[in-house]
Amino acid sequence: MTTQSKSLCLADSLSRAPFAWPGGYPLHAITNDGAALCRHCCKTERLSIATTTGNDGWTVVAQAINWEDPDLLCDHCGSRIESAYAEG
Ligand SMILES: [Zn+2]
Repeated sequence: MTTQSKSLCLADSLSRAPFAWPGGYPLHAITNDGAALCRHCCKTERLSIATTTGNDGWTVVAQAINWEDPDLLCDHCGSRIESAYAEG
């Protein structure tokens, strides 16, 4: 699998199923430069993710659950990434 197709695959599955199963915890994406991307940006920035050069910050490398950080923000749009346990 190429970097691009793997990146897109992770982003697409996150847009389709933004909550972890089991548990229903909200998921977000992690890029290869350590940034967090919310599930909305996985959808709206799909093209950038699909055509990532590998060092432009759009390579999605993992899906993650924000367990308890109430201040975790999406590095692209700046919206708060929901947490599994933190209030707010
Ligand atoms: Zn976002």
